[in-house]
Amino acid sequence: MKKVVIVGSGIAGATVALYLEGQADVTIICKGNQEDSNSMLAQGGVAAVMQAKRLEKEQEPDNEASHVADTLSAGVFHNQKKAVEKMVHEGPQVIQDLIDLGMTFDTTIDGQLNMGLEGAHSHKRILHAGGDQTGLQLTSFVHEQLSKVNWLSHTFALDFVVEEGKVRGVSYLDTNNQRQTIDADEVVLASGGIGHLFQDTSNDQTITGDGIAMAIRAGCDLSDMEFLQFHPSLLDGGKKVHPILISEAVRGAGAILVDENDCPIMVGRSSKLDLAPRDVVSRVVNEQIQAGHQIYLDISRVTNFSQQFPAIASYLKQNNIDFETSQRIPIKPGMHFLMGGVKTDFSGHTKLGNLYAVGEVAFTGVHGANRLASNSLLEGLSFARSVADAILSDKENSSASEQVQQVTQSSTKMRLPNRADLVKRTSDALGIIRKPETIRQFQDWLSTFDYHILDQTCTNRHQIETANLCLVAETIANAALARTQSLGAHYLLPEE
Ligand SMILES: Cc1cc2nc3c(=O)[nH]c(=O)nc-3n(C[C@H](O)[C@H](O)[C@H](O)COP(=O)(O)OP(=O)(O)OC[C@H]3O[C@@H](n4cnc5c(N)ncnc54)[C@H](O)[C@@H]3O)c2cc1C
Repeated sequence: MKKVVIVGSGIAGATVALYLEGQADVTIICKGNQEDSNSMLAQGGVAAVMQAKRLEKEQEPDNEASHVADTLSAGVFHNQKKAVEKMVHEGPQVIQDLIDLGMTFDTTIDGQLNMGLEGAHSHKRILHAGGDQTGLQLTSFVHEQLSKVNWLSHTFALDFVVEEGKVRGVSYLDTNNQRQTIDADEVVLASGGIGHLFQDTSNDQTITGDGIAMAIRAGCDLSDMEFLQFHPSLLDGGKKVHPILISEAVRGAGAILVDENDCPIMVGRSSKLDLAPRDVVSRVVNEQIQAGHQIYLDISRVTNFSQQFPAIASYLKQNNIDFETSQRIPIKPGMHFLMGGVKTDFSGHTKLGNLYAVGEVAFTGVHGANRLASNSLLEGLSFARSVADAILSDKENSSASEQVQQVTQSSTKMRLPNRADLVKRTSDALGIIRKPETIRQFQDWLSTFDYHILDQTCTNRHQIETANLCLVAETIANAALARTQSLGAHYLLPEE
């Protein structure tokens, strides 16, 4: 049996493990608990054309061509069309596999899948579970199926063990912060995005770009790192309240964005109004906040808000944020999703032998310059199955344990910035609106530190994360300057 090590317990890594269950010796490494991931936080749902019955109010039944067209349009046609077609076509089959295993999505009273609407989708095609708890229910369901997996929780992956262009294992900090190495025939990188490089983010606390940094250090190719998705509506409950996401599905259910005078802010900004693509809405919200306005989601048109969005309602109540009387939720934009990542083919192969990447950490080309809502769980599911298929069919199955070399012990000292300073400067230079001059100043500032190689004697997780974040920030800054024209979520002001 092949020995497979998966870095990351979100939907992408867990689904690879599901399709390998019983056919490979699988270990999942995750930095926190199994539950700590962006996948568990996903609220809105999974976009999929599931052969739903014609919906009464819709002229046309949903179809794959329409989902592909919406994805390309939101991505400003920067997407790789073949990758989009693959995801849209194969994703529903994976969802059906999960339904056959017992996964339940929300249904209507007549037992049909209850499809929701989100921004820039031209049909109701969002499957959801537990109202706004789709990620939690879906990811937990997949975890529950993994009876044969070895779990290494609270284990921090540091670097790949690379030998002659092939990955042979992963070095990591164990639960006692001791450095260890695990050998593998195949390694799957499923470590998610980079949210905590920015001050305001919807992302789980473990998401600090570690996998992207590991791939850069190992020599993988990356692509599209300038395309970061900022979500328009994170809760703005003041400094003491964690800014959870207020799902786009809330706007899909009828909420609109207004200022403190109840003036709708999306009128005249897009024909799709509040359901315009995220990059468009985030720029308008950002512009209004910069002009001194407080922005709210007006939920007065949403029927049964607390029943439709139980997790959000419960969080607002716990934090004494009135929404029932005022019918408004204060919001601000924040870093949400990385469209770029480690370049892969359709089976998840990276440039390095035996190394696959899948999920948010990977660049498959499906999202283009701006991800369509609810397409990333779909990407994780569909490409995870392809990765598992490739692992099972790849001929080479060398006994890795005999070939592993210990990671070179380098005691190169790192010189790192203060994390808060890094995050503030990154937010200023690489946020929703970018100026070339500010990016260049940021690059100059970053160049005064040493973070390109991890100090092999360092066992301080915070410092290692900071080094990884610096490397990711440098990569995004380079990519942002290289793309001299605005496109989708990469919005560059001209030189002054
Ligand atoms: C609040 C929120 C709501 C969202 N809602 C939706 C939605 O409704 N629909 C949709 O399609 N998408 C949604 N998204 C996006 C989507 O959830 C993610 O893009 C997707 O779940 C990513 O899955 P993943 O498996 O690639 O990564 P993740 O789920 O983020 O998992 C990454 C895993 O890697 C681990 N890890 C990271 N670094 C290391 C390390 N150094 N060592 C060991 N382990 C490590 C993490 O702890 C985690 O276990 C949402 C995202 C957020 C944040």
